[in-house]
Amino acid sequence: MWLFAPKGLIVVDSGRNVTGGQRAAAALRNAGRPVLAILITHPHPDHIGGLGVLNKAFPRTPIYASKATTNWMRTNPLGFYQLARRADPDFPARLTFPDHMLEAGETLELGGARLETAEFGPGESATATAYYEPTTRALFAGDIVSNHYTPALLEGHTCGWLGNLDLLAKRFPHARTIYPGHGGPADAKALIARQRAYLERVRELVQPAVGKHSADGGEINSTEQASIIAELDQEYPGYPRVASLPTLKQANVRALGREMGVNGRARCP
Ligand SMILES: [Zn+2]
Repeated sequence: MWLFAPKGLIVVDSGRNVTGGQRAAAALRNAGRPVLAILITHPHPDHIGGLGVLNKAFPRTPIYASKATTNWMRTNPLGFYQLARRADPDFPARLTFPDHMLEAGETLELGGARLETAEFGPGESATATAYYEPTTRALFAGDIVSNHYTPALLEGHTCGWLGNLDLLAKRFPHARTIYPGHGGPADAKALIARQRAYLERVRELVQPAVGKHSADGGEINSTEQASIIAELDQEYPGYPRVASLPTLKQANVRALGREMGVNGRARCP
């Protein structure tokens, strides 16, 4: 996705793989305007997989990310890039890294556009950056918010994520439209509220399966897992997966079980 600055285009994230990057590069060339910058919201594979292609197509365009995001990409602490390569042969064999590090809370001036940034700690991802353009009141929030998608809960920080939703609303109270990492743009307050409701609902569904009175104690057994997923499918019908991982829903439930098993309660501290 990109936004229009007075002097060119600013790209947010890169597409999920080589083909995604090629598609973005072709669309950007068709737009016929200078590509001023590429901004990375977070290091998940589906947001950085097209960077190499974009970098080759627009070699002089700077790639911005926070230090934390760049570090995560370099250290790959959860092995997500190997997982992405296994699930999607089109994920690049070698990563391309950001070359411009954002300071926390830095404001970017790019081609006549001003973009405020905010950095977030562990939530949907270990680290995330949101970009806000005050003149249009457009907020590029990455995966802190998705619109009608099954999110990835794999990092096991739904409490942090709920906190990040509060911070996002507080940091950018005048945001009108959120351009989410997955799904179309929509009213900022409504999208944040929906994401919050989704996370709270999943936690509520998982809680009995990890509670004291659950059949297998803290472990989520296959029956419990299947019934949680069935309930979600019914309440959130047709929500595509954000990741190419075919077993994302099962992995989500397991990750949430581990997260909630630790503190043993439905409510976040
Ligand atoms: Zn993500």
